[in-house]
Amino acid sequence: MEKANRSIHCTVTSCNYHCSCEDYCSLDSIQVGTHECSPTEEQCTDCMSFKKK
Ligand code: SF4
Repeated sequence: MEKANRSIHCTVTSCNYHCSCEDYCSLDSIQVGTHECSPTEEQCTDCMSFKKK
């Protein structure tokens, strides 16, 4: 059973690292990045640690 990291809230249930029973990530830390050259809003940022289930 993976451990919820209560410092990283996440609702991406299709990610392999999502803590299935609660809305937290199970990793110790994550990498956040962007797919834009000049990000202006939250939709421009991405969790680069995402891995498909
Ligand atoms: S790796 Fe990123 S997308 Fe996946 S559960 Fe953790 S925070 Fe969410």
